[in-house]
Amino acid sequence: MVHTHDTLFIGGEFVAGQGNDTITVVNASTEEVIGRVPEGTRADVDAAVAAARRSFADPGGWGGFTAHQRAEAMNRLADELDARQKDIAAAVSSQNGMPLGLSSQFEVNYPSAVIRYYAGLAATTEELEHRAGFLGAGDTLVQRSPMGVVAAIVPWNFPQALTAWKVGPALAAGCTLVLKPSPETVLDSCLFAEAAKAAGLPPGAVNIVPAGREIGAYLVSHPGVDKVTFTGSTAAGRSIGEVCGRLLRPVTLELGGKSAAVFLDDVDLDLAAIGESLFAACFINNGQTCFLSSRILAPRSRYDEVVDAISTLAGSMTVGDALDPVTQVGPMATAAHRDRVEGYIAKGKAEGGRVTAGGGRPAGLAKGWFVEPTVFADVDNSSTIAREEIFGPVLSVIAYDDEDDAVRIANDSEYGLGGSVWTSDPARGQAVARRVRTGTIGVNRYLPDIAAPFGGVKASGGGRDLGPEALAAHLELKSIYV
Ligand code: NAD
Repeated sequence: MVHTHDTLFIGGEFVAGQGNDTITVVNASTEEVIGRVPEGTRADVDAAVAAARRSFADPGGWGGFTAHQRAEAMNRLADELDARQKDIAAAVSSQNGMPLGLSSQFEVNYPSAVIRYYAGLAATTEELEHRAGFLGAGDTLVQRSPMGVVAAIVPWNFPQALTAWKVGPALAAGCTLVLKPSPETVLDSCLFAEAAKAAGLPPGAVNIVPAGREIGAYLVSHPGVDKVTFTGSTAAGRSIGEVCGRLLRPVTLELGGKSAAVFLDDVDLDLAAIGESLFAACFINNGQTCFLSSRILAPRSRYDEVVDAISTLAGSMTVGDALDPVTQVGPMATAAHRDRVEGYIAKGKAEGGRVTAGGGRPAGLAKGWFVEPTVFADVDNSSTIAREEIFGPVLSVIAYDDEDDAVRIANDSEYGLGGSVWTSDPARGQAVARRVRTGTIGVNRYLPDIAAPFGGVKASGGGRDLGPEALAAHLELKSIYV
C-alpha cells in the first residue's frame, strides 16, 4: 500500500501543506515505494511556529495547563502511542531498515515509557523554590518557567525514540513544539501526530513538519523559536550551533560518535554469555546507531581471541528483510547511505585493514540496501575507519599494550558519545570507564537509561537528553530576591 495522506500536522490538524513538492518514501528492504506525502515548506514552518506560539500564549492552550494537567495529557499521549504499536513498528522498520524485533521494543514501548517518565517529572517539578539567603540579607524565590516554542529536529535512525526524547521534556516543562522529522521516516511521525490528536493535546502543542535540511535550517533560525534541540550528524550540528550562537538561542546538540569497546585482559569471551550484550553495544540497528562501540580495543595478549569472537558474532547474524521477525541485521536506510558505508569498507581495505568477517553484500538478497556485518582486524587508530563515523555494521579491532594505552586510544577520538568496557571484574571495569572521556559508557553492557542524562562531549555535541537534566534544559530560571 502506498501512503498518500497529508502528513503535516499543524495547529492540531492534518494539512496538505502550502507547497507542491512531495516526499517519496521507499521500503529499505524491498526498494518499493510505500509513500508519497507532501513536503513541508517555509510557509508551513511559519504556520507551525505561529500555532505553537498561540498554544504557548493562550490560557486555553498548552501554556495555560497546570503541571498536573500536562502530566495527565502526556499520559494519554503515551496510551495513544501504545494503541498504535504495531503500525508504528512496521512503519519504522519498512522505512529505515530497523529489524522488527528492535522496532517493536525501542520504537514503541520505549517512547511511551519516556513520555510517561516526563509526565511524572512534570507533576513533581517545583515551579517556585524558596531558597534561604546565604548572607542572611533575605531569601530568594527561584522561579522555573518554560522557555517557549521549541524547534526539535530528529534523524531517521530511531525516529520515534528520539522524538520522545525531544517531546517528553519539552511538554513536561510547559513548552510547545515544532518537530521536523527526517524525510526518510515521515510515516511514523504521522502516527505520532495521530496519537497527539487522539490524546486531546491542545491544538498547536505539538506540530510536525516533515521536510529536508533546508527547511530544518529555516526552522532553527525562525524568530518565533525560543529553544532548539537537535539530534543528527556532527556536520549539521556545527552549522546549527553556529546559527544558535549568533542568535544567542539555547541549543541541545546530540551528534555523532566513534566510541570504543575496551576489552580488558580478564574478559570472558564466551559468546553464549556476552554475545547478546555485545551485539547491542556494537551492532544494534544495523550499525545505524550513534552510540555504538565501533572501535574494539583488544589487549595484545589476547588479540587473536578477541578478533575471533567479534568475527564469529558478526558472521552468525541473520541478515534480511527488516519486517521478518528473525532478522537481526536489516538493510541500510537508503541507497546513498549504503554507498557511503561501502566506501568506508573499500577505504578500510585500501588502508591495510584485514577483513575477518563480511566485507561485501550478503548473498541471496537482490533487492534492498544490505551490507554484510563486517569486521576489520589490524586496524590502527589513525586510519580513516577508526576515526570517522561509518554508521553501518562495520567494526575495527585495534590492539593496545596495557590499560593506560587502552584509555589513551579510547580517548584519541574527535568524538565522545558512548563506549563500553568488557571484563570479569566489574569494579575494574568501572575504574576504566571513569577514565574514558565520553558522555555515556557501559560496563559489560550498554543501554541508555531514561532517568540518566544522555549526550556527548567534544564533537559528539553538548547538552543532555533524558533524565531531569533534559527537563531543566527547557526551563528558564529567574531569581526573585525577597
Ligand atoms: P543529519 O544531520 O543529516 O540529519 C538529521 C536531521 O537534521 C534531519 O531531520 C535533517 O533533515 C536535519 N538537518 C540536516 N542538516 C540540517 C541543518 N543544517 N539545519 C537544520 N536541520 C538539518 O543526520 P542523519 O543522517 O539523519 O542521522 C545520522 C546522524 O545522527 C549520525 O551522525 C548519528 O550519529 C547522529 N545521531 C546522534 C544521536 C545522539 O543522540 N547523539 C542519536 C541518533 C543519531
